Amino acid sequence: MTRTRSTPCMTTLSPTIRNGALLFLAASSLLGVACGVRDTSASPEPEQSSAMTSADHTNPATSSASGSEKSADVAAKERLVRSDEEWRRLLTPEQYRILRQAGTERAFTGAYWDTKEAGLYSCAGCGQELFVSDTKFDSGCGWPAFFEKIEGANIVEKPDHSHGMVRTEVVCGRCDGHLGHIFPDGPPPTGMRYCINSAAMTFEPANAD
Ligand SMILES: [Zn+2]
Repeated sequence: MTRTRSTPCMTTLSPTIRNGALLFLAASSLLGVACGVRDTSASPEPEQSSAMTSADHTNPATSSASGSEKSADVAAKERLVRSDEEWRRLLTPEQYRILRQAGTERAFTGAYWDTKEAGLYSCAGCGQELFVSDTKFDSGCGWPAFFEKIEGANIVEKPDHSHGMVRTEVVCGRCDGHLGHIFPDGPPPTGMRYCINSAAMTFEPANAD
């Protein structure tokens, strides 16, 4: 089976395209590194205590509850629980790696990092609406970035101390899928930056009726 795939696909590309691709990859990794450095410095270690949970980032459960006017019915519908086997079957390998195993796609490789089209971004796991394009901005980091979630969207924030960094992970509150991280270095009016993996979302253009 692997034999048929062993022909390097690069040979089918013209030299120009190949060079272009290499250049792009090189540029991507350079920028990715620069961005990573900035991220690290942007999560100030001395401020661990204040970074824990700022006052305006109250319990997501509370805020989402106040955001929806339809009480218990909605709350019951809020959670989507599937077995690992089901997730593996329903998601693409990349979606599974990111949503279910808290993976991260490489910078500048995702489908939406550079998308400027108007539309709606939803969770690729459960379809919950998460972000609108109005709140998307160019963070230069190679991942889709938003300064605000959709009002009432059930996004849960969790402290993440992995990789020697102090970060805040953001997870879909409905299906528990890993989306990305949130950093306090976004633009006004919120000053926050939701840094989200493209593979964790689906995009619906606004004019696609
Ligand atoms: Zn979800």
